[in-house]
Amino acid sequence: MCYIYHRVLRDAIVCSEAVFPFHSGVLTLPLLLPFDDASLTLGASLLREGKLVAFPTETVYGLGADATNDRAVASIYAAKGRPSFNPLIVHAADKKDFDPFVVWNDTACALARALWPGPITLILKRKEGCPLSLLVSAGLDTVAIRIPNHPVALALLRKTGRPIAAPSANASGFLSPTTAAHVAASLGDKVDLILDGGACPVGLESTVINLATSTPVILRPGGLPLEKIEAVLGTPVPVFHAEAPLSPPSPGMLASHYAPHIPVRLNAEQPEKGEAFLAFGPQHPCSGPVLNLSPSGDVVEAAANLFAMLHRLDRPEHIGIAVSPIPNEGLGLAINDRLRRAAAAR
Ligand code: AMP
Ligand code: MG
Repeated sequence: MCYIYHRVLRDAIVCSEAVFPFHSGVLTLPLLLPFDDASLTLGASLLREGKLVAFPTETVYGLGADATNDRAVASIYAAKGRPSFNPLIVHAADKKDFDPFVVWNDTACALARALWPGPITLILKRKEGCPLSLLVSAGLDTVAIRIPNHPVALALLRKTGRPIAAPSANASGFLSPTTAAHVAASLGDKVDLILDGGACPVGLESTVINLATSTPVILRPGGLPLEKIEAVLGTPVPVFHAEAPLSPPSPGMLASHYAPHIPVRLNAEQPEKGEAFLAFGPQHPCSGPVLNLSPSGDVVEAAANLFAMLHRLDRPEHIGIAVSPIPNEGLGLAINDRLRRAAAAR
């Protein structure tokens, strides 16, 4: 595989003798640049425009998008081809950057003080009025946050000045990438820029700990050893095992994830009397409370709107929410997965 791998000159990539305009949509190869001032500036401006930028952290390469931009976050799921909306980790460079997003508690502050920047992700309750996309939480009332310990990641976060949602930068179901070449091989031109900062020193995903429940629970063992966490807290910390649940598991593993309070009816052409209607596509002439996930029938736009619109229609004055059929293509798979859980009997 060959990569476009050279220096940035205004709006063009100079590669050997040829100049390729990279905003023209002509290129299909992944844009992969070594980390330097120019690629950092480019990466930060692409992220602020809602584009996808892969970057190294100490754990694995992350596929980053502006965590406050619904559409940008939806495009992460589209690029990875994830069959469902797992919640995503939100990254920032300083602990105080997370203050508008989460409700801190003493345990979380102690772990952040002792172990950040580093390979540990903290799950906390979302704060009232949190400006992050609901998609990063996959509709839950919690957010996963982390400060990565890598100079490229930290420089990019500071330069962008936005929280960055970033799962591992690989196609769903494949190995996590620990080099820029792994990212290029797995995601190709689905990512707008890959910043090459060398191999990831830890090479394992972060340890995920749930601090939104009364007792802390490790949801995913990872790059930070359990013993270090227990040393900070001065107490043993249980590890969640799917076969023997100790506490509410990682929501990604739960059958019923986000469910509205009122019944959800799928594949509805029209709402019944008293129902709210969540439409998709251009032809939905009906009265009553209607929101349209995407009048143009775009599943990426629909994914970006899904959780926010379900929340808006989930009102006691409606007897239920009828939902238009959504095509089972691209992000439609993940949308239908989530809608089926929302509609499942409880
Ligand atoms: P990745 O982004 O690929 O490293 O995976 C992130 C992991 O964190 C997944 O296992 C998610 O299920 C988990 N995770 C992220 N956000 C949350 C959350 N709000 N609650 C529980 N687990 C989460
Ligand atoms: Mg992953």
